[in-house]
Amino acid sequence: MSNTVSTRMLILGSGPAGLTAAIYAARAGLSPIVVQGIQPGGQLTTTTDVENYPGFREVIQGPWLVEEMQAQAEHVGTKMVWDHISAVDLKQRPFRLTGDSGTTYVADTLVIATGAQAKWLGLPSEEHMKGKGASACATCDGFFYRGKKVAVIGGGNTAVEEALYLTNHSHDVTLIHRRDSLRAEKILQDRLFAHPGIKVIWNHKVTEFLAGGTPEALVGLELQDTRTGATRTLDVEGAFVAIGHHPATELFTGQLEVDDDGYLKVETGSTRTSIPGVFACGDVMDKIYRQAVTAAGTGCMAALDAERWLAEQEFEALQAAE
Ligand SMILES: Cc1cc2nc3c(=O)[nH]c(=O)nc-3n(C[C@H](O)[C@H](O)[C@H](O)COP(=O)(O)OP(=O)(O)OC[C@H]3O[C@@H](n4cnc5c(N)ncnc54)[C@H](O)[C@@H]3O)c2cc1C
Repeated sequence: MSNTVSTRMLILGSGPAGLTAAIYAARAGLSPIVVQGIQPGGQLTTTTDVENYPGFREVIQGPWLVEEMQAQAEHVGTKMVWDHISAVDLKQRPFRLTGDSGTTYVADTLVIATGAQAKWLGLPSEEHMKGKGASACATCDGFFYRGKKVAVIGGGNTAVEEALYLTNHSHDVTLIHRRDSLRAEKILQDRLFAHPGIKVIWNHKVTEFLAGGTPEALVGLELQDTRTGATRTLDVEGAFVAIGHHPATELFTGQLEVDDDGYLKVETGSTRTSIPGVFACGDVMDKIYRQAVTAAGTGCMAALDAERWLAEQEFEALQAAE
């Protein structure tokens, strides 16, 4: 059954960005509604150990961290809604959004925190080894591979940056690329080629993630030469897939400005998008840092920006009425 829900602030996404925005907005008295989407809790629900979120001396679990964030958001007055937004009209205010449930959301301000998903190779063995040696984030997981042999798969800026970052933990990093040259910026390539701890395997693609041991863990990768078809094995304990991310911005196509990679554009130093009253935070507008703590930080900014924008609108409306 369709119905209409009105709110001063609608937040799309229930990862660290959306939940932090909700905590700040609720504490500002805005009674926000969070639409959770098809991945309640966001990307952190797909991982186990988190060791870099401030405030916790011991390793914590990703799903637990977002559960706590959600409980905090609800405790201060956020309403969580189990729905996924499938249509958006930002051409008029208040903004109108439609959920898969048939509900229409009418919102004075909108905070977009829909995140970005890492691209994977799509191999069943890669899926099986996620969290057991296969990762898409060196900053998140590199520390767990201290002193171990690791590989990075990809040829763009992210792959080269991940390989360079991993040399903080490993003296044996191999970059695997399916072509004979990298797409990364020249300055990054120069640093990569000059590093004694990094080898490059050209013209090879990964065809299998190899498991072994008890408990089961990654022991190697099967590689295939893209020119001859010949296969070989590379012994590694960690494999970082760095072939890009996919920001969840299709919903806003033709309405909000995005950059060349599809990330929402915001004004420098703020979370303001190209439409007044619409704010973006977290991985959907950040292709550089992509961390839980930076998502939470920009979530806080979005709530504060939105609260100030609403106050300005209300002040202007009062003045116009006088
Ligand atoms: C395996 C893995 C391990 C990681 N480990 C760490 C770590 O150790 N430390 C760290 O700091 N970071 C880590 N990260 C990165 C971190 O998870 C992200 O940076 C962070 O989750 C981004 O938060 P976000 O709120 O911007 O987006 P996300 O967490 O991606 O959340 C996006 C939300 O938007 C919702 N959504 C999407 N589309 C719609 C829609 N149309 N309607 C409604 N809702 C929608 C989704 O359901 C989801 O709730 C890891 C990431 C992965 C994948």
